[in-house]
Amino acid sequence: MRNAGLGGWPARRAQMSPNRTAFFFADRPVSYAEVHERTTRLASRLRDAGVRAGDRVAYLGPNHVAFAETLFATHLLGGIFVPLNFRLTAPEIAYMLTDSGASLLVYAPECSAVVRALPALPGLRTVVALASPAPGETEFESWLSQGDPTPIDIPVALDDVALILYTSGTTGRPKGAMLSHANLAWNCFHMLIGVDVASTEVTLVSAPLFHVAALNQTLLPTFLKGGTSVIIPSWDVDQCYDLIEKHRVTWMFGVTAMFAAFARSPRWAHADLSSLRTLMSGGAAIPVALIRAYQARGLTFCQGYGLTETSPGATFLEAGESERKVGSAGVPVFFANVRVVRPDLTPAAAGEPGEVLVQGPNVTPGYWRNPEATAAALTEGGWFHSGDIGVLDDEGHLHIVDRVKDMYISGGENVYPAEVENVLFEHPAVAEAAVVGVPDQRWGEVGRAFVVPRAGAAVTPGDLREFLLSRLAKYKIPVYFDIVDALPKTGSGKIRKPDLRGRPLAAGTEE
Ligand code: AMP
Repeated sequence: MRNAGLGGWPARRAQMSPNRTAFFFADRPVSYAEVHERTTRLASRLRDAGVRAGDRVAYLGPNHVAFAETLFATHLLGGIFVPLNFRLTAPEIAYMLTDSGASLLVYAPECSAVVRALPALPGLRTVVALASPAPGETEFESWLSQGDPTPIDIPVALDDVALILYTSGTTGRPKGAMLSHANLAWNCFHMLIGVDVASTEVTLVSAPLFHVAALNQTLLPTFLKGGTSVIIPSWDVDQCYDLIEKHRVTWMFGVTAMFAAFARSPRWAHADLSSLRTLMSGGAAIPVALIRAYQARGLTFCQGYGLTETSPGATFLEAGESERKVGSAGVPVFFANVRVVRPDLTPAAAGEPGEVLVQGPNVTPGYWRNPEATAAALTEGGWFHSGDIGVLDDEGHLHIVDRVKDMYISGGENVYPAEVENVLFEHPAVAEAAVVGVPDQRWGEVGRAFVVPRAGAAVTPGDLREFLLSRLAKYKIPVYFDIVDALPKTGSGKIRKPDLRGRPLAAGTEE
């Protein structure tokens, strides 16, 4: 077998452990042998549709077993898989499909309104619907089942690009972060070392698979080891409880907002959580009160820090260390290096804040067709600039204390104010706008927009909200709008965002 990438995994797993359950989805078990057969059939169909090595195949929808099948089938042909955030609007999806040059899209019925609203995209030759295809579209299951099960042997190298993952940027335009097969495999090895993922694992995949954390910290390492992934379509507290009890789930990954909601549920007190051996949180430091609440229930947390561009694990804190090193994001994962540097790139001393740089086999080769963004993010020696401000303590533990990049995280989703501001500027009544993240108990952070109307124009928070909703995903829409006369500026005319972040919510602020 000449496929050194992920496309070869189902065949290898089917040889080693054909009868073990790879996935539980919608209460149905799917064995490793079935995954192999179905992905081979699907790959033959993708090939019939013209997909060749290096071509892009996009997927739009909540978590589903078809997500994994489409990923492996694309990789079997040496193609590049482009998972899209199902919370985005049609203009956002159209941009990503165009930028990636995807020739085939698989989508779920939950996203049919967005797909119907897409403009004509000349490069997109085939659209496959998981259910209820529109005229001209193909229906996934019947298409797949008639595919050819003859093994496919196309050479794929570890350094070939496997994924393009869109992250918005501080310039406002989403960028496609590329990850190679090697990047993904190294992160899986890190998960086998850090979380100690075992072949007996029953992993709950509840975070969205379009994000690298769920894909590459839960589903893929579990698959590599021959464990079972229990897939939930999208985050739902009750379903989580049901599936943990039913399948005796052994661990799950989530962001702070998910774990907080889980502990707020009325089921928290009496549910049977005895099968859970650990939990993993990422995306933000987990508050100590939450660690304690879970400890009282006999549950421990390991924690990770990383980014899409680092596949994502960069540092890791073992469960046993989470109390002693509260607030720490841990130590560099095996095989990767982490540095904290001053603006002139010299190393910061222990305790001195600086930008976090990451180097190693998990680091992205760059951004899709975007050499400027690649050059800005990756410096000599392959050091990736995270845009996060960290401190290394005297034991070499990283603490994330701030961000250089203008970004905030709401319920686990990154929001780049520049992207929201760019859309606000398109509103005819808006002269100036600035968006900042402000603390929020439920979501971690939420957006607050400060808007200066054009002379003589009147605009209300309701108008602005409606305008944004038609162009941006809901999680990016600010919760608070302040209509103001002017924005605070520095001598050079830059908006002073720290000032805005610190402003108390005024009586005129509308939620
Ligand atoms: P993403 O590319 O969506 O994975 O987002 C990566 C960003 O999430 C990082 O640049 C950080 O700002 C933030 N992040 C991830 N993990 C942590 C953590 N453990 N503590 C603080 N911030 C984190």
